[in-house]
Formats: sequence, C-alpha cells, structure tokens
Amino acid sequence: MNSTSPTYAVNPATACPDPQAARLVATAYDTIRRRYVEGRHQIGAAIIAADGKVYLGIHVEAMVGRFSVCAEMAALAAARLCTNQPLLAVAAVRYPKPSEAGGARIVSPCGGCREVLLDHAPQIQAVVPQGEQGVFAPLHTILPIKYVGTKWGAQLPIQAP
Ligand SMILES: [Zn+2]
Repeated sequence: MNSTSPTYAVNPATACPDPQAARLVATAYDTIRRRYVEGRHQIGAAIIAADGKVYLGIHVEAMVGRFSVCAEMAALAAARLCTNQPLLAVAAVRYPKPSEAGGARIVSPCGGCREVLLDHAPQIQAVVPQGEQGVFAPLHTILPIKYVGTKWGAQLPIQAP
C-alpha cells in the first residue's frame, strides 16, 4: 500500500472504482465542501451502516490541538446516536486550504481513529488512498495489532439495549 495520499483536482470519488466506496467518498467530499472553514473544519467523513443509512461527521479543530475531534469520530458518534446497526465502511476527505494547490483528497483514518473505529465496528472497512485510487481496506489490516484492554473483553461489537 502506498503511504502517500494522492491529490485530485475534482471530487475524489471519481478515483474510486468500487461504487460503494465512490458513494461514501462523494458524501464525505460533499459534507466538507459545504461545511469547510479554514482552521476549523477541514475533513469530512461518512460511515455507512448495514441498513444502508449513511452518517456524517466533520473534523472539529480545537485551540488546544490535542482536543481536536476527527471527522471519523464525529461520524461514529452520529451513527451511534441513531442506530445499533453494524457499521460497514468509512471514508474521509480532506478539503484543501485556499492557499494550497491541488484538490480534495481521500485520507486514511489516523491511528487513534483506527483504534476507536475497531472498538465499535470490528468489521469496518475504510476507503484508503492507494496509488491514484481510493480503495476499500478492512480496517484491521491497516491496524493489525490493535490495543486490547480489559474494559470490554475481546468480543465486539457491544450490544446496546
Ligand atoms: Zn483520526
């Protein structure tokens, strides 16, 4: 897997051969295109649940940087606010600053998001940049040895009431 993220001049969904990946990327792109604020919100995310419903999130920047919230975490919270359905896939798109060359691009979940997404959706796939394309990767394959504490045991997902 290529570790660099390609840039795209247009909607990065056009770089996704898989129709479901393209749909998720297009939704994440549209979300951040509509809600982008420089220095405040630069990444949009979309998560699809097993029933086909899609949940959105945007990155929320904080003055104290480590308290910023990733778009994937916002989308996970939005999904869990509405459904206990298994979460099948996630995509995130970074919108460029006005001063940057190039267009929006697909971004992989950061390490922290990989951990938390796998805590709540062990089978989830992520759209990741690979060469000039965006492709699905099972999230556990890009975080093969995740942290497992004693809080919940090894079998997930959690069954909500
Ligand atoms: Zn993250």
